[in-house]
Amino acid sequence: MFSVALTGGIGSGKSTVADQLAALGADVIDTDVLARELTAVGQPLLQRIAVNFGAEMLLADGALDRAALRQRVFQSPSERKRLEALLHPAIEALMLERRAALTAPYAVLVIPLLFETGQQQWAQRVLVVDVPEAVQIERVQQRSGLATDEIKRIIASQIARAERLARADDLIDNSGNSAVLIPQIKQLHERYLQLAGA
Ligand code: ADP
Repeated sequence: MFSVALTGGIGSGKSTVADQLAALGADVIDTDVLARELTAVGQPLLQRIAVNFGAEMLLADGALDRAALRQRVFQSPSERKRLEALLHPAIEALMLERRAALTAPYAVLVIPLLFETGQQQWAQRVLVVDVPEAVQIERVQQRSGLATDEIKRIIASQIARAERLARADDLIDNSGNSAVLIPQIKQLHERYLQLAGA
């Protein structure tokens, strides 16, 4: 199935763009959503995280303590690698399984760590949503109230902006308001329909 991999740094606007493409008729698979599904209470992957990282990664009700896990892996690249080795193959497998069942003219695969995980191979086009770092920080703060330092750490753990831009086939500049964003999305949607042969 013709697929567009949608990526960008934290708070760049991936979900916003994906929602708009879905409203225009694309089918969207968001790997963050898959990750949450796969680590819900009762899922084998949650059990493996608890075994590998300790029972203190679980809340009293048995759900994943995402803040504790984030804290843990952002302090240690080797721990982060260990977590990713557990998560990424399962997410990728579920993404491909879900994609096989889609019926829209094309699929949008939202993959925040696209280049970091080498998943460009699953898409014909790479679409990058881009904003300057100051905008990323401001929007993430507004959305989640994370501390500036923590947001900066997350940004630093992701691929550098210049490299991400260099590897894009298509680019959306989301530094403006929705009046400048929506036309860019509509134009790309038309192009993807064409490329998909729809
Ligand atoms: P991502 O999925 O890349 O982390 P989101 O789509 O969640 O990013 O956007 C981050 C935050 O910024 C959200 O709260 C979203 O509503 C807001 N946002 C996205 N695009 C814009 C924009 N063009 N102007 C203002 N706020 C925006």
